[in-house]
Amino acid sequence: MINFKNSLKSFFILFSISILGGILGLILNYSFWVYFLSFLLFQIILFSFLGSIIKSYNIKKIKELELNKLEGLSTLLSCAYCQKQNVMIFNTNDTERIEFECDHCKKRNLVNIQFLVSQISEPLEIPKVVGIPSEKLENIS
Ligand SMILES: [Zn+2]
Repeated sequence: MINFKNSLKSFFILFSISILGGILGLILNYSFWVYFLSFLLFQIILFSFLGSIIKSYNIKKIKELELNKLEGLSTLLSCAYCQKQNVMIFNTNDTERIEFECDHCKKRNLVNIQFLVSQISEPLEIPKVVGIPSEKLENIS
């Protein structure tokens, strides 16, 4: 519903500006439709261009946020060349590629982060284990 409302608003703004462009065409003694269509086309191109910039900016921001969460985390990774273990600490300064140098063979490794999904397991209904009450234990002894 919100999307539909926003789309309607965008169309309203788009056509309003185009109509104003058409009126400008009339004022300048040119064709209303030529100016109307030119303004319409220009806006569509401009907004799709801006849209793609905003989208790529948002993707970059999300990636940065994800990497910020990894800051301070370290893990053991095997070198892709010599297979020996290295302690790797995530550094958020490199937002493009995460790399580390192997301590053993000094070759640079590229780290690929993979996100895996799994089902959340529900705890089973385990019957309570009831022990012998302490009063009864005292009676036994
Ligand atoms: Zn190595």
